[in-house]
Amino acid sequence: MDLELSKEERELQSRAREFAEKHLFPYEIECDENEGIPKKSLAKIRRAVIEYGLNGFTHAKEDGGQGFTHFQQILIHEELGKATNGLWTLVWSASLPLRHGTPEQRATYLLPINAGKGRACYAITEPGAGSDPRMVRTSAVKRKGKYILSGEKWFVTSANASTIILVHAHVDGDPDKPTLFIVDRDAPGVTKQRAPRFMHNYAFEHWEMVFDKVELDESRILGKIGQGYELTKDWFTDTRLELGAHCVGAAIRATKIANDYAAGRIQFGRPIRDFQAIEFMLADMAVEIMAAKSMLYRIGAQLDQGQDRKIVHARASALKLYCSEMAGRVIDKAVQILGGRGYMRENPVERLYRDIRVERIWEGTSEIQRAVIGGQIKKRGLGVYTGWD
Ligand SMILES: Cc1cc2nc3c(=O)[nH]c(=O)nc-3n(C[C@H](O)[C@H](O)[C@H](O)COP(=O)(O)OP(=O)(O)OC[C@H]3O[C@@H](n4cnc5c(N)ncnc54)[C@H](O)[C@@H]3O)c2cc1C
Repeated sequence: MDLELSKEERELQSRAREFAEKHLFPYEIECDENEGIPKKSLAKIRRAVIEYGLNGFTHAKEDGGQGFTHFQQILIHEELGKATNGLWTLVWSASLPLRHGTPEQRATYLLPINAGKGRACYAITEPGAGSDPRMVRTSAVKRKGKYILSGEKWFVTSANASTIILVHAHVDGDPDKPTLFIVDRDAPGVTKQRAPRFMHNYAFEHWEMVFDKVELDESRILGKIGQGYELTKDWFTDTRLELGAHCVGAAIRATKIANDYAAGRIQFGRPIRDFQAIEFMLADMAVEIMAAKSMLYRIGAQLDQGQDRKIVHARASALKLYCSEMAGRVIDKAVQILGGRGYMRENPVERLYRDIRVERIWEGTSEIQRAVIGGQIKKRGLGVYTGWD
């Protein structure tokens, strides 16, 4: 068992760290105050993404990506996750299901998006369909050789920055035919209803959208009819690893700030870190991060070693659950250690505190992850989580 990072991995980690510190951190307050990233700053960050060789970094070279291993991607996500306001999203990569597209779809969407021309967002959630996607009402009905797509989608992250939307719809309104359609964001019949405000001030908006009889050719189906869940589930495995890495990164940044502050802040004649109440919080924070990171690196390394994707999927739920809840606990303690300063918006720990809350909700809530884990224990036995293979 080799637990050392290779020279190449260390180099990549330093590159991603430098990128985040020099090209994301300086824009955090601006993004927070503007409730989104202003265009001028976005252009500067985009140039830096190319300069650092990070565009399309979750994809293979032949798909216009960087050809990094899963483990290398995790190292990058961890560094990017230290930035507040979801600025990590500015390091673009095409939505993963696009790699399952036909050669034409890959040439039209995947390659240009990875090169920075366009962006894809993902629309599954609806007013009546959240944790249970079988409740989706958006339907696609075939008429005269075209699919007519109608429905309403909520929380469409980055819709304002996207050129296409991967829309999860039921063909003929049949929940047994869940299917992904590639829809142009500006196609006739696609409208933005609202861009509600959220707890975090994310780089882009999360739209509520209506699809009113949008006409789509057969060529707009990604994968096959009925393959919608399969593609989404496959995507969830990667996004849950990504999310776990962001949470670890965010927790590390908050802990470093709290540790430095506790060493320099004098009250009652001594640094506050000398009070056991503070020192014990720092100890708990460090241990929680160590546990989460061990889990994250193990699952990432095993994915590269060809671990059965079903087992990775089962463990990715555990990772998502643990890392998101861990980050919530750790960052809450960081706010406490900084006292009043931890509650100021100009302080990264305050922004991390707001940002991190959604990690327990999106990509499947904590309750849904527990349900998945419980189901996997029943199906495969406890060893999936308690064993070592
Ligand atoms: C900022 C933000 C961005 C988002 N971006 C996107 C996006 O880009 N695309 C997209 O499609 N969606 C997106 N979402 C939606 C997100 O994935 C959903 O909010 C999430 O899946 C939960 O669905 P819901 O909000 O409808 O809650 P519900 O499913 O209604 O759940 C409400 C509560 O009930 C619990 N619950 C539900 N079912 C069970 C069960 N079986 N057992 C126990 N408890 C249960 C939940 O855990 C939760 O606590 C985003 C959400 C947010 C907040």
